[in-house]
Amino acid sequence: MSRPADPLVSVVAPVFDEGDGVDGFVRRTGAVLQAAGLRYELILVDDGSTDDSWPRICAQSGADPRVRGIQLSRNFGKEAAVLAGLEHAGGDAVVVIDADLQHPPTAIPAMVQCWSDGAEVVEAVKRNRTGQPPVARLAASLFNATFTRLTTVDLVNATDFRLLSRPACDALLRLPEHSSFFRGTSSWIGFRRTVVEVDIDHRGDGASRWTFRSLCRLAVNGLTSFTSAPLHLVTVVGFGFAAFSVVLGVQTLVRWLRGGSVAGFPTVILVLLVMGTFILLGLGVIGEYLARIHEEVRGRPRYLVQGRTGPPAGEQPVIV
Ligand code: UDP
Ligand code: MG
Repeated sequence: MSRPADPLVSVVAPVFDEGDGVDGFVRRTGAVLQAAGLRYELILVDDGSTDDSWPRICAQSGADPRVRGIQLSRNFGKEAAVLAGLEHAGGDAVVVIDADLQHPPTAIPAMVQCWSDGAEVVEAVKRNRTGQPPVARLAASLFNATFTRLTTVDLVNATDFRLLSRPACDALLRLPEHSSFFRGTSSWIGFRRTVVEVDIDHRGDGASRWTFRSLCRLAVNGLTSFTSAPLHLVTVVGFGFAAFSVVLGVQTLVRWLRGGSVAGFPTVILVLLVMGTFILLGLGVIGEYLARIHEEVRGRPRYLVQGRTGPPAGEQPVIV
């Protein structure tokens, strides 16, 4: 492992309706990187914002050539925006960070230091979980615990705030999946990794850009792209029901042969309901995997770029 003497650090931030925060984010992140004496480029990916995020990114980029903007043609979701940023990053190390300043930019120099010391992937893990309502916290913990149990990827306390070395970033970009799950795939690729602990701040304006729906989508995408366990579960429960049916069938037959009456209307309804629920759930699980296959087979691009601002990738001016 050898690191360039004067590395270029790319900082990628997805932006969705962060008009009020863009200037502050660029100022604070730039100040931290400058104070650390790092050569950097800041790539802001506008994920189809409906507010003035893009004009503000353009203004920032006009004022400082280290700031580059990519405007996606619509809201493709954070995962696609991160991917767009990674694909446009030309640095020796690439840091992915939220643009809402919940991820403290002050941690970047420490992450770059870990990279200089040999780590290929540096993950910032949460020391706390501020800024989330209790229900969201519970749901996230449940999902992370389930995901970690079902896959080889540890998501407990994980964040999207990560540094990838050039080889790690290239490896990640070689994955062909349509519905990417950055937190999972950046762990899946392996490479020498280390963690730094960070405190997650409160969000300035309080409102997460994720909707309940988009979070559910992310959870389903994450699970279906990393494990087939739900499909196996359908099979296992199916076998369980089969065994139960045999026992129940034999018991009923024996009772009938002994001349007993076969009653139990409520039981029949209950069994029907349970079975019906399971069949529908099972179909749903299979449907989710089928939808994923359909999406992958269609092979549409993961995002479309509508505009760019700032110098093209790889033509980073040296500013000291
Ligand atoms: N984001 C995005 N596209 C989306 C939703 C969010 O680019 O569809 C960005 C958002 O601007 C922010 C980051 O992703 O920079 C994290 O979003 P948010 O803070 O809403 O998520 P949370 O902190 O609640 O996980
Ligand atoms: Mg946030």
